[in-house]
Amino acid sequence: MITEQLEKQRDLTDGLLQRLMEGEEEEALFAAADRVRRENYGDAVYVRGLIEFTNHCRNDCYYCGIRRSNRSLSRYRLDRETILACCREGYGLGYRTFVLQGGEDPWYTDEILCDIVSQIHREHPDCAITLSLGERSRDSYQRLFEAGARRYLLRQEAADEKLYRMLHPSRMSCENRKRCLYALKGIGYQVGSGFMVGAPGQRWEHLIGDLRFLQQLQPDMIGIGPYLRHQDTPYRDQPNGSMQLTLRLIAILRLMFPGALIPSTTALGTIDPQGRELGLKAGANVVMPNLSPAAVREKYELYDNKICTGEESAQCRSCLEMRVFSAGYRIVTDIGDPKKYRASDRDL
Ligand code: SAM
Repeated sequence: MITEQLEKQRDLTDGLLQRLMEGEEEEALFAAADRVRRENYGDAVYVRGLIEFTNHCRNDCYYCGIRRSNRSLSRYRLDRETILACCREGYGLGYRTFVLQGGEDPWYTDEILCDIVSQIHREHPDCAITLSLGERSRDSYQRLFEAGARRYLLRQEAADEKLYRMLHPSRMSCENRKRCLYALKGIGYQVGSGFMVGAPGQRWEHLIGDLRFLQQLQPDMIGIGPYLRHQDTPYRDQPNGSMQLTLRLIAILRLMFPGALIPSTTALGTIDPQGRELGLKAGANVVMPNLSPAAVREKYELYDNKICTGEESAQCRSCLEMRVFSAGYRIVTDIGDPKKYRASDRDL
């Protein structure tokens, strides 16, 4: 059995990985992934309150709805007080991790961001602050760490140079993306990386390359979701990624990285109403409910038909609670560190 081998060795040859991705032993794969997630995390599902604080972006990624060239999007920025209010509301809802995510928006200088991060840290010393702000200088990452951020999400998107080039304009580079990831690790952040499944031009060997890159990086968190088209991007006519392949990859990742934090993503919930529940059953152990003010949610439109844009934060929380429960797990109020992480490293 290929699955047994993966579970034991946490690795496989390229050929065997491809066979699992193609659907061989699918039932056994999902069952093994669920068993391993339960051995490591029981039935706990960690929640991360997601604050999408700006949809301005200097980048022009060919697949992304908030790309700079999308002139039909109405742009917004949340100010310090609004972000702090979101965190307070999230704290009341039981969230112990806040994720500040946005386009690459130079309006938020290091000074502005450090002030926001340190204020969140002062108000909620028992919470983790996660940033997802794209590529910045090492010095900037260092300053944000000193202000109190401890986690950073930056998907590699595509570890292969050529595929990366198909997805991004020339001012961005695969090399710099990887450099940023290693800089973040070196500073001491818990790092999350990942990729889109079914991105335009992606083939089996690219997916295998992405898994190999993650084996080198050894991230604490791994976020994957299907590529979903957006009507105002150059890739508007490319087909969406496959839910089933995304689920198989979540299961493969769980077996390769038993202690990792793996979210069941919004993109998975968008491609199928049961997508997030199925993601949990395939080995994911994190959900990221939206904490952004309802008035701006529609504007953070990375892809068409993104879910959870019409709800208030409390509704998002209770909807997810039900979904997680129906899948056979339970949301916990916990900072939710990865298994290998030592609590003493977290203290400031
Ligand atoms: N600017 C930050 C960065 O570059 O990491 C964070 C924001 S970025 C919009 C967050 C993630 O959205 C990206 O890592 C990308 O994988 C995902 N994303 C963007 N467009 C997408 C699409 N059309 N379908 C699925 N995921 C998409």
